[in-house]
Amino acid sequence: MVNETCCQIAMRLNGFEAPRAIVPIPLIPAEAYETVFWTRRWRKAKHKDDLWRDFSKTAIEFEERFATEEDCRAFWIQARWGGKPACARCSSTDVWSELGGTRFECAECGHQTCLTSGTVLEKTRKPLKMWFRAMFEISSRRNGISAKELQQIMGFGSYKTAWSWLHKLRAALVRPDREHLNQGVEMDETFVGSKRPGKQMVLVAVERSGRVRLAHARRADEPTLKRSCDANVARSAGVTSDGLASYNRRTPGARDHQRSVQKN
Ligand SMILES: [Zn+2]
Repeated sequence: MVNETCCQIAMRLNGFEAPRAIVPIPLIPAEAYETVFWTRRWRKAKHKDDLWRDFSKTAIEFEERFATEEDCRAFWIQARWGGKPACARCSSTDVWSELGGTRFECAECGHQTCLTSGTVLEKTRKPLKMWFRAMFEISSRRNGISAKELQQIMGFGSYKTAWSWLHKLRAALVRPDREHLNQGVEMDETFVGSKRPGKQMVLVAVERSGRVRLAHARRADEPTLKRSCDANVARSAGVTSDGLASYNRRTPGARDHQRSVQKN
């Protein structure tokens, strides 16, 4: 391991607790992540980034701003369509509101567009207010949140529901068009899961300024590490790894590469 940083971040982001013997590191503030709820179809929607970046960061602000389902719906419409719902088929904004503002029928082509269709909340039967609450809880905690905690906060009957919400929302916290990590980047690999058959390898790349990329991998061989490096690290960045043989000349390519081997 390069140091404990990568391992700690990997465990925190995956909802595992760090072993007590390891000194805690400064954690990345949740604000560093942007929340994107849109699937590919809606990635080009205007206004969304500014609004999600503007999401409530304190409990008081959240309670005031999203007091009712109508508040949440208005925010959603603003984020998704810039305030005016549009037809998903022909983009016309001449639409009729139906089912209490959760569906819009196009006056031009008759197509029906749901408030959440094409997003990670597609087909949800739960109110937006609940999803917003979960999103706030997940994004506002510096130490992350476990599925068990989310279950208690939200009052879910089953752990499975909490787990599924958490994974859905965590996946949405990744910006699809995010930039490559730059400057000094540490690369490492760690395992998550406690029991042998369930143990999974996670590749970790951490930028000095705090951004992190994680990827599930079956093995830490040269082609896998090279793919991970090319996908996440800018060509101008310097890479630091441990002494693992797979981090050879080809893995970081033309990037400056240093090895940091801990001496016992
Ligand atoms: Zn239409």
